[in-house]
Amino acid sequence: MGLELKNLYDDFRNADTIKAYQKIINEDAKGLTKPINIMEVCGGHTHTIMKYGIPQLLPNNINFIHGPGCPVCIMPKERIDHAYMLSMEEDVILVTLGDMIKVPGSNGSLQDARSKGADVRFVYSPMECLKIASENQDKKIIFFAIGFETTTPMTAALLDVVVKKGIKNIFFHINHVTVPEAMSLLISDENSKIDAFLGPSHVSVISGSKIYEEFPRDYNKPVVVSGFEPVDVMQSISMIVKQFIENRCELEIEYNRLVSHDGNIKAQNLNEKYFEQRSHFRWRGLGDIPKSALKLKDEYKEYDAEVIYKEILLSETIDDHKLCICGDILKGLANPPECSIFGTACKPSSPVGSCMVSSEGACAAYYKYGNLI
Ligand code: SF4
Ligand code: SF4
Repeated sequence: MGLELKNLYDDFRNADTIKAYQKIINEDAKGLTKPINIMEVCGGHTHTIMKYGIPQLLPNNINFIHGPGCPVCIMPKERIDHAYMLSMEEDVILVTLGDMIKVPGSNGSLQDARSKGADVRFVYSPMECLKIASENQDKKIIFFAIGFETTTPMTAALLDVVVKKGIKNIFFHINHVTVPEAMSLLISDENSKIDAFLGPSHVSVISGSKIYEEFPRDYNKPVVVSGFEPVDVMQSISMIVKQFIENRCELEIEYNRLVSHDGNIKAQNLNEKYFEQRSHFRWRGLGDIPKSALKLKDEYKEYDAEVIYKEILLSETIDDHKLCICGDILKGLANPPECSIFGTACKPSSPVGSCMVSSEGACAAYYKYGNLI
């Protein structure tokens, strides 16, 4: 009998295995000298934690802080406005990934732009731009690229084809951000309550666990790179707790079925060929973070929509709705239900802030699975 995907997942969602880890964690946690706060950096982990009610399985001295791990949640309004403005150009087809289409900017979302006649398309892979470009030779296809280290190689791979084939009607608006710089900012905040990190999964498949070496070494905070399934998360928590009770502070990989120390070198080389670090980038809720994002190298500026459309793209920053506390949530200083408009004025069907848009956003996860906590 062949190996089925479902069987693979089943092992990592097995209730008996989860209960076994629950028992180990509860026993080990008795040896903790103080409560520990674990930040899950990745939105995928937030989703798993809320979906499977993991906080309820843990003792009172282990808490989660929900981190900034969703590329949609951290996109500042002015960048969404860029996408909106580009999409309103007559000869432009704006293409983007995932939930980006629903995030409210100051003029509305890309969905609103579409209702006003803009040609905005949602794709699963940037490579779909090639077909759109060949079917629409009289249009400029602008790929609004978002995501962490996970999706950057996909954008680089598209650019590689565009450059090599000499395609003249595909352009790029680059919003790729990098995770370690945000983790450093969060840990350096004087109000930070983070004791350990659950390291992201997809990001680490590409970049390798090496990008987190500074956290145990320079900040004295353990990192365990974890898979997405509930058994992965429980095992990772158990590994963190063991580090505390054994007085260790290390970088460990639980998700070793896909993550290595060095990561995907081929993807990293492709990124390096086309991108360089920006001096700084504003993260929604977290503010300006030095060297936390990428841009196209100067030699590829003929493909750079930010350069080509410089005149119409505003450069000033735009504040969030005054009642939205996404910033405090992303810093781990508040939980979604503490927001005064959580579940009332702000819901997944009518998001006010970005954490309510993506299913990986902390507010959306609390809204959907809140009955479990
Ligand atoms: S892209 Fe993957 S690693 Fe990044 S936040 Fe989403 S789920 Fe986590
Ligand atoms: S509930 Fe909505 S407005 Fe409140 S913090 Fe979350 S996203 Fe922002």
